[in-house]
Amino acid sequence: MSESTVQKHNFDADVKQVLDIVVNALYTDKEVFIRELVSNASDALEKIRHTQLQESEIFDDSLELEVNIQTDDTANTLTIQDFGIGMDENDLTENLGTIARSGSKAFMQALKEKGDAAEVIGQFGVGFYSVFMVAESVKVYTRSWKPDAKGYLWSSDGSGAYTIEEVEGQRRGTKIIITLKEDDKEFAKEERVKGIIQRYSSYVQYPVNLNGEKLNTVQAIWTRNKSEITDEEYQEFYKFQANAWDDARFWLHFSADAPIDIKSLLFVPTDNPEKMGFMHADHDVALYCKKILIDRKPDGLLPEWMRFVKGVVDSADIPLNISRESMQDSQLVQKIGKVITGRFIKFLSEKAKKDPEAYTDFWQNFAHYIKEGITSDFENKEKLSKLIRYESSLTETGKLTSLDDYISRCKEEQKEIYYLLGNSREVIENGPYLEVFKSNNIEVLYLYEGVDEFVMSHIGEYEGKKLVSADSEGLELDASAAQSGEKLSDEDAGSLVEWLKTTLGERVSDVKVSSRLTDNPAIVLNKDKMMTANMRRIMKAMNQDMPQETPVQLEINPAHALVKKLSTLKDSEPEIAGLVAEQMLDNCRMNAGVLEDTQGMVNRIYTLLEKLG
Ligand code: ADP
Ligand code: MG
Repeated sequence: MSESTVQKHNFDADVKQVLDIVVNALYTDKEVFIRELVSNASDALEKIRHTQLQESEIFDDSLELEVNIQTDDTANTLTIQDFGIGMDENDLTENLGTIARSGSKAFMQALKEKGDAAEVIGQFGVGFYSVFMVAESVKVYTRSWKPDAKGYLWSSDGSGAYTIEEVEGQRRGTKIIITLKEDDKEFAKEERVKGIIQRYSSYVQYPVNLNGEKLNTVQAIWTRNKSEITDEEYQEFYKFQANAWDDARFWLHFSADAPIDIKSLLFVPTDNPEKMGFMHADHDVALYCKKILIDRKPDGLLPEWMRFVKGVVDSADIPLNISRESMQDSQLVQKIGKVITGRFIKFLSEKAKKDPEAYTDFWQNFAHYIKEGITSDFENKEKLSKLIRYESSLTETGKLTSLDDYISRCKEEQKEIYYLLGNSREVIENGPYLEVFKSNNIEVLYLYEGVDEFVMSHIGEYEGKKLVSADSEGLELDASAAQSGEKLSDEDAGSLVEWLKTTLGERVSDVKVSSRLTDNPAIVLNKDKMMTANMRRIMKAMNQDMPQETPVQLEINPAHALVKKLSTLKDSEPEIAGLVAEQMLDNCRMNAGVLEDTQGMVNRIYTLLEKLG
């Protein structure tokens, strides 16, 4: 091979950073590189099997679908070869020169937060680069399945650059020859490598041979009888199938014959894959037909919100040669998806009953998927509603309640379920909206995230009871019994209301005397149950056309000292009374989270203070 055909490329910046970490900073769990390379080999075999079903002409079509591994402790090398799909020149630069999936920034942040390299490497699609933890140099010989493709050699020592050159006489697939660093010679020893493969790769669906000896007995654990499978086996399979480093938190293993033949094994991870917020997990329940993989990550099998679930679904009813495209509109696949979704929701409900503590922990880590399901999976909305949990005015801090439990505690004649959104328990309990519920001994759910309000409005009604925000107007609730001290006379209250309407003008849509307040002088209420203060804020943030300040409905407490004072002040000192009224309104708007013009409010307070002096 003449030198002129050797092309030198630089890794892109992301890869350089990842390599730098991998080579210089990762010393623990070095053995993960074997798992990563075997997993890539197995992916490549799955891809060729799929391609074989769809293409008529495949290079080296008769090769066995297997992974061959060789150790050589004299030459200090480890070789991993698959007869998979192979790579052409373009694939090589794209796949082994760049990081497509999530970028090195996210990778590094995850590494910082997790501190566990092994877990993070697999998750971020940088598995291949883990070879440089142990490699002095790496040679990748590869030949694509495409009939007219050429063979290539990719080589690198992991520092900044790699070369690609054409080579003759390649078989289909990929052969990776790793020359080990002095300190990592152990990976050229058969016994060491054997242990690693048996530990991590025993569920690979293709034969894995080490120096000619087959190591894995291909097992489709999901087709076996539940009673014969140990928890360790389930955990091991989970780790293999999901490429995971955490344990499964729980799993559902079930089979059905009618109306469709299904065998399924679904896992809920311990860690939420989206916890750190920068990754949207892919669907990860693989579809099989009689132990043969149809699609590793089928789209359209399960609803989007179930993307945190890992595992397999096997159905003998699916045609083997179904294409990825036609799968999405296959009625059968949809039916299978429905059965599985239903069973999975039922499984979670049962878990919640049988083991509330485990369920609560699940909820604390995975709630956002369930909430997403309620707002997007119309068919399962009701069942999913049973799974939500919130704190409430009757729970202790940190303890959660379900809608069913709420109903079991409330009086039968109570027609509505109440909730209130606020940043924390303290904020909600110190605000003015809870008073009337407290004095009537009615439970209010505490919602701490904006999305919860959408969830509530999507549920709409639960077991015949409407879900209503506790800051709505017109609730048939009365706290007058709890109002202490003398109240304004009806006449004085009436004239104060009229005066407030004139004074506050367009800033209020209406002013009323309230019977729901005890400790606070006034409150603004939500007229439109579908457009709460929070939703207004969200829409504003999304840059929707929202009027600068929408008029609010103000209610005043006729028993409150400030209100009584205002009633006389409006005649004796109209100017100050006007400022006080404005200030009271702004305080209420602030409580409701809809105060926009804070500077105006601050200036007004200064004016008021000056007047006092
Ligand atoms: P991931 O496997 O998560 O995509 P890797 O860093 O392990 O990330 O591999 C990067 C890409 O390189 C793979 O997606 C694949 O396209 C390609 N690749 C790696 N190993 C092989 C192989 N043995 N055969 C074919 N392609 C491979
Ligand atoms: Mg990989």
